[in-house]
Amino acid sequence: MLFKDIPGLENIKSTLRRSVRNSHLAHAQLFDYPTGGGGLAMALAFSTYINCENRAEDDACGICASCAKMAKLVHPDFHFIFPIATSKKIDGKTSEAFLPAWRSFLLENPYRVLPEWLDHIGADNKQGNISVEEARGILRKLSVKAYEGEYKILLIWKPDIMNAASSNAILKILEEPPEKTLFLLVSDQSDKLLTTIISRTQRITIPSFSDSEVRSYLKQNQFSDGAANQAAYLCDGNLSEAIKLVQESEDDRSAWFADWMRSCYKFDVAHLVRLADGYDVMSKEKQKGLMEYALRLFRDMLVWSHGAGELLRVPEEELTFVQNFSKAVNFESLEGMIEEVNTAYYHVERNVRAKMIFLDLSLTISQFFQRR
Ligand SMILES: [Zn+2]
Repeated sequence: MLFKDIPGLENIKSTLRRSVRNSHLAHAQLFDYPTGGGGLAMALAFSTYINCENRAEDDACGICASCAKMAKLVHPDFHFIFPIATSKKIDGKTSEAFLPAWRSFLLENPYRVLPEWLDHIGADNKQGNISVEEARGILRKLSVKAYEGEYKILLIWKPDIMNAASSNAILKILEEPPEKTLFLLVSDQSDKLLTTIISRTQRITIPSFSDSEVRSYLKQNQFSDGAANQAAYLCDGNLSEAIKLVQESEDDRSAWFADWMRSCYKFDVAHLVRLADGYDVMSKEKQKGLMEYALRLFRDMLVWSHGAGELLRVPEEELTFVQNFSKAVNFESLEGMIEEVNTAYYHVERNVRAKMIFLDLSLTISQFFQRR
């Protein structure tokens, strides 16, 4: 991971580069970032930059022996600690046993969230944990002198999930750190960290990605403009979410939504039943995703009909739809629809039969159309 691979966040990058050039490296740094943001990627790029044998002003070289090892996450002076859980696929009690899986997980892309990791190791429905044994083992991990680089680096991902015993073990190490060692605590829930840990670290606050940064990342990664625009619109700077959205490419939400609304408008009950059958067999995540999408568009229509259209972040293709739709319903109906979709979402979450929820909702929306 190099700095240039991460979209935007230029201020953070230049602060980090400066700290390396001036040798002002705090021994413990907290990469505090929003869920789905650039925290892990930034910590990896930073570590690569620190270890590079031939670094330029703005980035690591990307080709020296050290960069090559960092790119595969196998540098001998670079260590990881991350949450693990009892897994169907992997047998082990510390992150050591999970390392190969962790590397392949991160190399896919570094904008990831804990549930994805737990899913990756076949531990779904569990919490993930950094055990106190693991925390105490850190010193052993670091006791060998730096092999190749100047620094040994330990990256701890999600220190925020540690219990009191593990947190205190880490705290002890941060209070008396071994020499020439950097601790990078990478957290998307820093409010859950012990204040005593926070006070031992230098905090790097990483803002969430802007829509245009999300778009440019997705386009660079060969996703179509349309898919990239739509995902950026929906994900609120959460790149993990955006990547998931574009990968579900067959899931063309806007076409589905337009079809649904047209059928409600025409009160085409036969087609609504077909849509309900389709909805019934989707995964719950997808069912919720479609409801979220509907909510988002309805809210945008509300904004539009209030004459504040310039506030909207809707992509071009959807804007026409929003405009036309806003003409077909009045305020009160839109507000009613939003309420109904909210209720439907609530029921989907609570496992009420999806077909009934959807059909009910569709008929209610049809009535709203007729009420204008
Ligand atoms: Zn290099």
